[in-house]
Amino acid sequence: MDSTSARRHLSKAVVIMGPTGSGKSKLSVDLASTFFKPSEIINSDKIQLYKGLDITTNKITLHQQKGVTHHLLGAIDSSYCVTPFEFRSLASRYVSDIISRRKLPFIVGGSNSLIYALLTKRFDPDSEVFDGSRPDPVSSELRYNCCLLYMDVSLPVLNQYLSKRVDEMLDSGMLEELQEFYESGGFDSVNPNGLGQAIGIPELNKYFRCTKKINSEDDVARRMYEEAVQQIKDNTCQLAKRQVWKIQRLREAGWDLHRIDATEAFKAALGRSKARVADIWERQVVETSVKIVREFLEE
Ligand code: ATP
Repeated sequence: MDSTSARRHLSKAVVIMGPTGSGKSKLSVDLASTFFKPSEIINSDKIQLYKGLDITTNKITLHQQKGVTHHLLGAIDSSYCVTPFEFRSLASRYVSDIISRRKLPFIVGGSNSLIYALLTKRFDPDSEVFDGSRPDPVSSELRYNCCLLYMDVSLPVLNQYLSKRVDEMLDSGMLEELQEFYESGGFDSVNPNGLGQAIGIPELNKYFRCTKKINSEDDVARRMYEEAVQQIKDNTCQLAKRQVWKIQRLREAGWDLHRIDATEAFKAALGRSKARVADIWERQVVETSVKIVREFLEE
């Protein structure tokens, strides 16, 4: 970034929203590490705020971060629960600090309640804009000059991908990570309103309790494990659907979201050709986003 564009983007922030598994973290690193240097990323996934369970909560690895600084990722003790109001105050300090160092902040994560709390001009901690049968009105007055990117993937395609992702997370050690957490008393000491809500903890609790008494090779245990895995997949798909509903709600209230359609890249990812995925991702997701963010920074 030259000094003129650096000056122009002062007090601006880029926000990457979207349902779980839609590629927000990858896009943010692609943008921050290549096109919009210097930038830093602030996590806005409410479960990834906490230390521990890195596979279960699907945190981006150090290698995948490609040297881009990440804030509020695995930063908070798991006995604690960060409220949206606290997140507003914590994350806004990072936004101001990143801007004061003449860098571009990227706010990235799927927790719409946290994004709402951070971005609205006036935040009422008692309001429930996404919950209940008659939710409170959504405010569209934001306190930063934001470029809002919305990663969209058609839900049937995303659901297929999420199911595959759960299998991959299990292959990478999610069961062992949760088993160790369970055996070291983590299930009891974790804050039930914080990390304790991570998908995987309640679903596997019954299985771990049972395999303490019986052999995990047992038929009953195997069935229990398969049921738990199916529940994890179903709950992850439900989460994605709820998150999309919340994003629609923000959009209907006037939030100016730029929709990035990543469906084709995800369809390709469900196939075999890695080269094809990378090509579609670059052309349809990265290039489109770069153009939108560039225009925003030049305004
Ligand atoms: P809500 O008000 O429903 O909690 P939210 O916008 O604050 O919504 P979401 O990101 O939609 O937050 O998360 C809702 C729930 O989804 C979490 O409480 C948790 O059960 C699950 N969840 C979200 N992110 C993760 C994650 N990274 N790993 C595991 N579970 C997650």
